Amino acid sequence: MFETELINEIRERLSIFIGLYDSIRIVDPIKKELIKEEGACSSIELPRKGRHCYDFWEQDTVCGNCVSFVAYKNKKSTFKIERYKDGAYCIFALPIEWKGRLYIVELLKKVTADDFFSDLSFNLALPLNSTTTTLTELANTDELTKVYNRRYFEAQLAKEIMYSSFYETNLAVMIIDIDHFKQINDLHGHLVGDEVLKQFVEVIQSVLRHDIDWMSRYGGEEFVVILKNVDFSHANKVAERIRQSVERHFFKIGDHVHRLTCSIGLSMCQSGNLKQTELLQEADQKLYQAKNNGRNCVIS
Ligand code: GH3
Ligand code: MG
Ligand code: MG
Repeated sequence: MFETELINEIRERLSIFIGLYDSIRIVDPIKKELIKEEGACSSIELPRKGRHCYDFWEQDTVCGNCVSFVAYKNKKSTFKIERYKDGAYCIFALPIEWKGRLYIVELLKKVTADDFFSDLSFNLALPLNSTTTTLTELANTDELTKVYNRRYFEAQLAKEIMYSSFYETNLAVMIIDIDHFKQINDLHGHLVGDEVLKQFVEVIQSVLRHDIDWMSRYGGEEFVVILKNVDFSHANKVAERIRQSVERHFFKIGDHVHRLTCSIGLSMCQSGNLKQTELLQEADQKLYQAKNNGRNCVIS
């Protein structure tokens, strides 16, 4: 009767996650037997039940990629995607200690209807890990320059400000805008302009600390750079280094070499003292001043 109690407990705890699973099962990962199974309130029809866990898939033998066994062996939650007839199922296997005994609890969810999988044409040979990583990257990356896009930037900056507040550290935000970029497009065409943008990003990245500072495309020919855990004087030095690196760089595209400058507005968040909008507004105002000051300069 322990098993019924365990399932009820799990159901109760998961009750706030509507639609998280279609069925809960307790399985014996060694004998591959179904100890207990409970459906959730779902209109989705699941495959048939049986004495063995693999009966679910209308198989006569154990699955080669038995998640419950992996979860049992590694004492770690694990999951897999299984294809069944025209559908796809996600199976989470969770090792749970209950009243001195280790159980493997499986949560099964039919995911066929999710856009996520329909877009992949059920190419379930793709490991879920790399699929989700790819989708996340696509959603967060600017297609042209391959740096983060604005959507990611906004979400990530909110977190950085939170960390700055929590750990009482400083955060520097720069908005960088290419000077007279329109001329490049007008004189040499949009494709050259695109190539310039790609190289511009590389120049900035060469100045930043790898895996600590990060940049994003803010829009058009404007980029933002986030420096973590830096003081005002250091942030200014980095901004100046970026400005100089751009000024000195030879942007080689085809047979032409282009020279550029950029203007930078810098603002600082100290122990989370500024809100996101305030921080960006300040950097934007400084950038505006930099443009008014004749461009090719840093204002902080
Ligand atoms: P300023 O010094 O005042 O910043 O002058 P600017 O010419 O750089 O500024 P403006 O905002 O007038 O022009 C920005 C130009 O950037 C206009 C737009 O055509 C170009 N641009 C924006 N996004 C892209 C892009 O993805 N590719 C290319 N090639 N050009 C772009
Ligand atoms: Mg601009
Ligand atoms: Mg510009």
